[in-house]
Amino acid sequence: MATIYSNAPRHPEKAHRTATDILPRPSWIRVRAAGADVREATQEVVRAYGLSTVCEEAGCPNLAECWSKRHATFLVMGDICTRGCGFCNVRTGVPAALDGTEPERVAAAVRDLKLTHAVITSVDRDDLPDGGALHIASVVRAVRAASPVATIEVLTPDFLKKPGALEIVVDACPDVFNHNIETVPRFYPSIRPGARYFHSIRLLQAVKERSPHMVTKSGLMVGFGETRDEMIQVMDDLRTADVDFLTIGQYLQPTPQHAAVVEYVRPEMFEAYASLARGKGFAMVSASPLTRSSHHAGEDFERLRAARSGARASVIDS
Ligand code: SF4
Repeated sequence: MATIYSNAPRHPEKAHRTATDILPRPSWIRVRAAGADVREATQEVVRAYGLSTVCEEAGCPNLAECWSKRHATFLVMGDICTRGCGFCNVRTGVPAALDGTEPERVAAAVRDLKLTHAVITSVDRDDLPDGGALHIASVVRAVRAASPVATIEVLTPDFLKKPGALEIVVDACPDVFNHNIETVPRFYPSIRPGARYFHSIRLLQAVKERSPHMVTKSGLMVGFGETRDEMIQVMDDLRTADVDFLTIGQYLQPTPQHAAVVEYVRPEMFEAYASLARGKGFAMVSASPLTRSSHHAGEDFERLRAARSGARASVIDS
């Protein structure tokens, strides 16, 4: 995907920040290096259709595992974001115009990779009147047409101040509507400065109100210094919005200019959070240091669907 300012700094909004030493990773966070052979088949398809992936742009620690299974998460509407979140490694700047061929290119890649569950996310496009909702809906429809059996998950921006945008995406009928809450409200000014906590909660609730059977999903990162009580409050807020599926993973600091990792949360604490979330009624919980929104998303959705149809009594994962 072409970028306007390919030589511009990746994070101009963070250039003035004091660099912090990145806390060394503990033994329980082991990231497998992605060998060329492992990445090759998936990379070939991604490159052939000129697509961006959040796997690469965010520097996801699970890339070797996912790509070896030919699973990638597509980043649509370019690879330049109009926000500058404190945690995110996606490039910030002025994005290019939307490319009308992208929906068909994503659909072709999903077909060629033989994905049974396609995850589509995007940069924030605050510059567009609808925040890119129509484009996302076009991608969903193109994927559906090319791979009718595949299920589709969208991981969307918050469409802040874009009335009607959410409805456009919901009406394209993805199987899963995911919007990450990311962190506890106390850290919004530093971690998600362009977002509003209760707007994101309300957005998830609005999805359920418009399409009561659509699976809704949200994710939290830990390691910013949040407390257990704050985590519980977010879980309660998400359940109030009727969110079905919660993911919790460890934040990893991409560069010294990004928000610092205050703590590497121990695996036992992830288990404790998963247990708390189950008690609060989430239909599915995935919580571990390397959990990401799109990690094992297809398998998790299948289990949730099976449970809903009565095939299984319980679908709790941790
Ligand atoms: S977890 Fe998601 S973003 Fe990370 S490599 Fe896997 S598909 Fe890509």
